[in-house]
Amino acid sequence: MSFLSASLLAQTIDDHIAWMAAWTRAAFYERQDHTAHAGSLPIPESFTAWRSDAAKTLQDQPALDKLTGLYDQLHRIARLVVLKAPEGMPVTAADYDAVAAKYEELITGLRRMERALATAESGLDTLTGLRSRSGMRDDLTRELSRFLRSGKPFCLALMDIDYFKKVNDTYGHENGDRVLSATANHISRSLRPFDDAWRWGGEEILLCLKEADLPIGQLVLERVRAGLEKLPIKLHDGREMNITASFGFVAAAKDSTIDDLLVKADKALYAAKANGRNRVEAAVVAD
Ligand code: GH3
Ligand code: MG
Ligand code: MG
Repeated sequence: MSFLSASLLAQTIDDHIAWMAAWTRAAFYERQDHTAHAGSLPIPESFTAWRSDAAKTLQDQPALDKLTGLYDQLHRIARLVVLKAPEGMPVTAADYDAVAAKYEELITGLRRMERALATAESGLDTLTGLRSRSGMRDDLTRELSRFLRSGKPFCLALMDIDYFKKVNDTYGHENGDRVLSATANHISRSLRPFDDAWRWGGEEILLCLKEADLPIGQLVLERVRAGLEKLPIKLHDGREMNITASFGFVAAAKDSTIDDLLVKADKALYAAKANGRNRVEAAVVAD
């Protein structure tokens, strides 16, 4: 998020808090004075400015669309309430409640967006606490050049939870999230402190095992896999469940590129799935 975008977001939250106070005054207490210009209660323009800036970079477009919808609704119904005065119509508690509910929803959404953006900036994924993909390519490129320079081997591994769709379908999405965060936790605890792990996609994790050639990579991943299989995961209602995951991995070679390694790890993961899941599969050299 750009500095401009962050400050516009903070600005529009402040502006809306001030706007709500001004609207309440206009709608309930200064109806007479406002009769002439009641319909022109200024709408915070900072939202529009933030939205057009955020639209350029923000990944989560649906969230942005939702906030835009809330903003439009809030100001439409708020304006209708203020326009009641010149018509001589009473403003009711229900009018206030309708505006207050939209206002609360908008502010909550904007604050959530602020938190999500702050977390994204920290380079960590909100749900799993693993690294997000933002700095991944740089980190991997650095590791590859270290290998080419010093000959210190490393492995790249892709992990994908087995039958995760079924976990969501059976226990609900919230429990699915729990499983995901428990799995990520297990991975972080099982790796050595200098290894790296990123949330690659939905329920897929990318691992970089440093100073590990193919046999060591196999050993480390086998240990992670076996531990995960035994890990009791607590669901919301106190029940416990177990999951398994499949792993595909590759060791860096002299002529490797990052894309190359990622494709090979992905193919190996596919093989691990095809060969029965809950297993570790090394990339085929000839691939
Ligand atoms: P497979 O063993 O072949 O990997 O089966 P699978 O069911 O895990 O298949 P697939 O990888 O296609 O499904 C992944 C599912 O993960 C689909 C999606 O609904 C779910 N998912 C992705 N991200 C999240 C998330 O953040 N939270 C939750 N709860 N579910 C997610
Ligand atoms: Mg998957
Ligand atoms: Mg899966």
